[in-house]
Amino acid sequence: MAWKIKKDVLLAIMEFSKASYPNEFSGLLVGDDQLVSDIYILPATQNYTHSSVLRLDLAPMTTKIIGSVHSHPIPSGTPSSADLKFFSTKKINIISFFPFNLESFLAYDSFGKEVFLEISD
Ligand SMILES: [Zn+2]
Repeated sequence: MAWKIKKDVLLAIMEFSKASYPNEFSGLLVGDDQLVSDIYILPATQNYTHSSVLRLDLAPMTTKIIGSVHSHPIPSGTPSSADLKFFSTKKINIISFFPFNLESFLAYDSFGKEVFLEISD
């Protein structure tokens, strides 16, 4: 089964990415099985950079976290070595990148392998 993401979640990711630009934005992906159905923004990551640590302890216990998302202020969705290390604990990881339209993203599994992410309504 292919990974899917709800279109409004992807639109929200792009809006948060634009709002944070030129800084990075990061958040956690909420969902079930292979459907990303919501996003959780961590308040402590407003000025997230590659050197920062995402505060997973701040995430609510009741939500089902299946992945991560962060933005690149450059037109590249290639993960950094820090990104890859972080991806290893998540099933699905999205990188949005400049200019943040609906095609400006790539998704990776926990091994850093690119995953096709289908947009669903
Ligand atoms: Zn990155």
